[in-house]
Amino acid sequence: MSETLSRTNLSREHSVKRVFHPMAHPNDMDAMPPRVISRGEGVYVFDDAGHKTVDAGAGLWNVNLGYSNHAIKEAIASQLEELPYYSAFKGSTNERLIELSHTLAEWLEPENIKRFFFTSGGSDSVETALRLARQFWKLQGQGDRIKFLSLKRGYHGTHFGGASVNGNSTFRRSYEPLLPGCFHVAVPFDYRNVFGVSDAERLTDLCLAALEDEIQFQGGDTIAAFIAEPVLGAGGVIVPPPNYWPRLKALLDRYGILLIADEVITGFGRTGSWFGCRGWGVQPDLMCLAKALTCGYFPLGAVAIGERVERAFKADNSAMGTISHGYTYSGHPVGCAAALACLRETAALDVVTTARREGDYLLAAFRGMADRFETIGNVRGKGLMMAIEVVSDRAVKTPAGKTYMAALAKATYEAGALVRVLGHTIILSPALVIKRHECDEIVAALQAAFAAASGDPAS
Ligand code: PMP
Repeated sequence: MSETLSRTNLSREHSVKRVFHPMAHPNDMDAMPPRVISRGEGVYVFDDAGHKTVDAGAGLWNVNLGYSNHAIKEAIASQLEELPYYSAFKGSTNERLIELSHTLAEWLEPENIKRFFFTSGGSDSVETALRLARQFWKLQGQGDRIKFLSLKRGYHGTHFGGASVNGNSTFRRSYEPLLPGCFHVAVPFDYRNVFGVSDAERLTDLCLAALEDEIQFQGGDTIAAFIAEPVLGAGGVIVPPPNYWPRLKALLDRYGILLIADEVITGFGRTGSWFGCRGWGVQPDLMCLAKALTCGYFPLGAVAIGERVERAFKADNSAMGTISHGYTYSGHPVGCAAALACLRETAALDVVTTARREGDYLLAAFRGMADRFETIGNVRGKGLMMAIEVVSDRAVKTPAGKTYMAALAKATYEAGALVRVLGHTIILSPALVIKRHECDEIVAALQAAFAAASGDPAS
């Protein structure tokens, strides 16, 4: 037995017997052992049997520059030599952290954002943003403003704060009771909504009317912030109508409510704009960042703090303004070094243009597939963030069953693309350095899988 194989057997055994895998039932992992991903190269990953696939999810929407970026790897290696860790708690900082905060301020100049709080990932960033929003209102002498509003189907990570504003019961039920004071409103989703409308303008009107109704019901002066993803990710890639965010911002402004943009997925180019809210022409008060900040090469996140919030902290000289919140790894020098290299490469490679161009190409290809395959109910996306919703009955949009979806995912993998399946939806978010022929490989794999899927789509 080769050394690689024995190592692999050991890791598989560990996975099934020793690990509680995230977002999985332990018994399902026994029945269907996890795939061992052994190697990455460009936009491809290889499993332990050597099978090569285009990673059509770029990890978890994060490996935007693919797996072979030497500049990031070298930055990490040299930072490990120089200073592998030091704390950024009161009294100390490090050079990479200083550089990164300046670099991010340049990236976020159009949003007029000049301050950052560093975290270890997206959930930390959401938690931090929610806390800063509450603290902001205490500093304003409006301590009643403690509530949060968010969108049904939204996803904001797994800490108790984030889970409380999550808009999907899957991520909530087992962990309730969650944070009090969190309320959810209708998301502008043209394919499925309670209003039964698909017209974009009308959908915005109805969703914002529902939001305003909730604000008035709760009392506008009890609401700290509204949090949303500019394009919803884990909720199934829901792209709001173009007028939704500008009108949302105007509505929140009328009630003084802070806007938190959760850009954990959408930040740094994925939607075809450098930031999702920039694409909608909106400046948020707080922005949650992670994922593409380091492209997954090192865990790091950040909260970008807008001028209004920054000003409130600067104006306060009491203990109330102390940020009594921080992570051991806030401003980790290796993470910051990774981010600096990653952002340099992200800008140099102009990934935003690729996201727009290849996103349009893939969307058109998937729409073409929908003409051929009856089980494709809806194709949607923005930039390189796309979804194919699979149904057993197109007319009534019945979600396809678990067995059918598992068969589709397996067949796609065998045909050369690794896709993520969330419920009855195939999620596509390849690296933003993907080339045309690699896009074609994804399309071909999906086409082969849909053509081969002969089982009952309802089961
Ligand atoms: N917010 C959004 C919009 C996300 O998609 C995610 C993760 N997919 C998170 C927050 C949580 O990030 P993390 O998994 O890095 O904690």
